[in-house]
Amino acid sequence: METEVLIIGGGTTGTGIARDLTLRGISCILIDQKDINAGASGANHGLLHSGARYIFKDGEAAVECHRENLLLKRLAPHCIEDTGGLFVAVDQDDDDYIAQFPKLCVKYGLPCKEISVDAARQKEPCLAENLKAAFEVADAVVDPFMLSLDNAAHAQSKGAAILRNMKLTGFEMRNGKIHTAQVENRRTGEKLTIKAQEFVNASGAWADNVAAMAGASIPMSYSKGSLLVTQSRINQAVINRLRPASDADILVPGGTVSIIGTTSVEIDSLDDIRPTVEEVDAIIKEGAQMVPKLATTRYIRAYAGVRPLVRTAGGDGRSISRNYTLKTHTEDGIDNLVTITGGKLTTFRLMAEKASDIVARRLKNTNPCLTETETLPPSTKGEWTEPGKSPRVWMANPERRDTLICECEMVSEYMVDEIVNDLKAEGTIPTLEEVGRRSRIGKGPCQGTFCSFRLAAYLYRKGELADSQGMGQVREFVNERWKGFMPLVRDKELMRVELQESFLCALFGMEEDDE
Ligand SMILES: Cc1cc2nc3c(=O)[nH]c(=O)nc-3n(C[C@H](O)[C@H](O)[C@H](O)COP(=O)(O)OP(=O)(O)OC[C@H]3O[C@@H](n4cnc5c(N)ncnc54)[C@H](O)[C@@H]3O)c2cc1C
Repeated sequence: METEVLIIGGGTTGTGIARDLTLRGISCILIDQKDINAGASGANHGLLHSGARYIFKDGEAAVECHRENLLLKRLAPHCIEDTGGLFVAVDQDDDDYIAQFPKLCVKYGLPCKEISVDAARQKEPCLAENLKAAFEVADAVVDPFMLSLDNAAHAQSKGAAILRNMKLTGFEMRNGKIHTAQVENRRTGEKLTIKAQEFVNASGAWADNVAAMAGASIPMSYSKGSLLVTQSRINQAVINRLRPASDADILVPGGTVSIIGTTSVEIDSLDDIRPTVEEVDAIIKEGAQMVPKLATTRYIRAYAGVRPLVRTAGGDGRSISRNYTLKTHTEDGIDNLVTITGGKLTTFRLMAEKASDIVARRLKNTNPCLTETETLPPSTKGEWTEPGKSPRVWMANPERRDTLICECEMVSEYMVDEIVNDLKAEGTIPTLEEVGRRSRIGKGPCQGTFCSFRLAAYLYRKGELADSQGMGQVREFVNERWKGFMPLVRDKELMRVELQESFLCALFGMEEDDE
């Protein structure tokens, strides 16, 4: 295969670059070793930062967030719930820190309005009674899956190829340039060589592994963050704790649920990322100081992601800048590689613009970046990731004969058909995991216990699965869900887990699996 630019990594950054380049008339191929948003872009808080979180330590990042927040609200409104945000302090929080907050917001040009604690509690009755300060900011909530899927879909409509399950395994170097990339299909084992003029490393936390294949290095720090999903939505606006960054400082509403997090734990390897019991306990204990209900509410799942942070001398997970790193690699003697990593979901568009500027310059393409002015079109690919949309659509069409596959989130056969057709149009046979990532299947209280089997049975019936493929895929799907709820199993949840275990093991013989 041959193209002008090969992008490695299908998170928000990589898909943003694919869209940016194709809008400039540059052809590209994007590969991901797994799927769109299989990395940090699919395991974050979904907070579209106002910038206020960064004013104490990273003014530049704060200003960038503010600017991108405004742009995305205007250009990708369908991916955003404009909830607004609150920064709140409770009795034990530091008065000097609280006093500095509005001053720093003014310094960096971020909108911020102090409101009385009564007004704050009226707005968000879940807030603690011992609140002592509250400020309104411009935070919002973004659906990262919809964002990346729509960026990818727009790039595809302009000619980009998106190859999922394709892992970069090596580069062939010639005269200080990457000549070709070797790629392997994770599912079929098929090997492919891709020739390109320019290569972009947008592989997030894996940036050093990819750079190493070209003989370069990016010193990364792996900071794992875990988050908990509540069964129902507790808050309407984003709620931030007004104190130096710590565990469980942010409660983000996401459609029908709320998400509390996060932690920051240094890890050595990217191989098995999962939340731990210790993290879950810390999140609940700390979060409950700001929102007491977090101590008693039911949680349906925990998940963890790794922040792609570029190491700076002496920095740890929380102190390393959340700003992005853009490396041209000319200093490493490589003329056609760009690495873009670090940063945030909120600033993905800007990161994509900066990386694409370098690539365009090298290709002598003088067309301007259009992502700052062109609206992101909604696509069918990202349509069913929105929490609460499936029940709305299903209930609005009572006459349509459309059986539910996932009862918790009310995902029906018709919605699965749309996802399957989109995946097949990309030339791949859909897996349970891929359908799950593009819908709400497995994300409700049953956590895949029943819907995984229903989905497999439906895909068999449609001829998309054959032989024993379905069982392997159910196992993979359910194991991923177990990782997420095992650390928070306690009290009544134990009964649900018992039920799930007897269902999976007694009926389907899944007990052989270590997990
Ligand atoms: C716990 C947590 C909470 C966060 N919360 C927020 C938030 O609320 N708001 C915010 O703005 N930001 C947040 N972030 C940061 C944000 O999620 C990331 O900065 C952003 O998603 C990074 O996107 P990316 O595309 O650069 O990397 P990733 O999403 O990690 O994408 C990299 C991709 O590269 C692929 N890849 C790796 N190696 C290879 C290879 N050899 N071949 C092919 N493909 C490869 C991976 O499969 C992966 O899909 C959070 C991060 C974490 C971890």
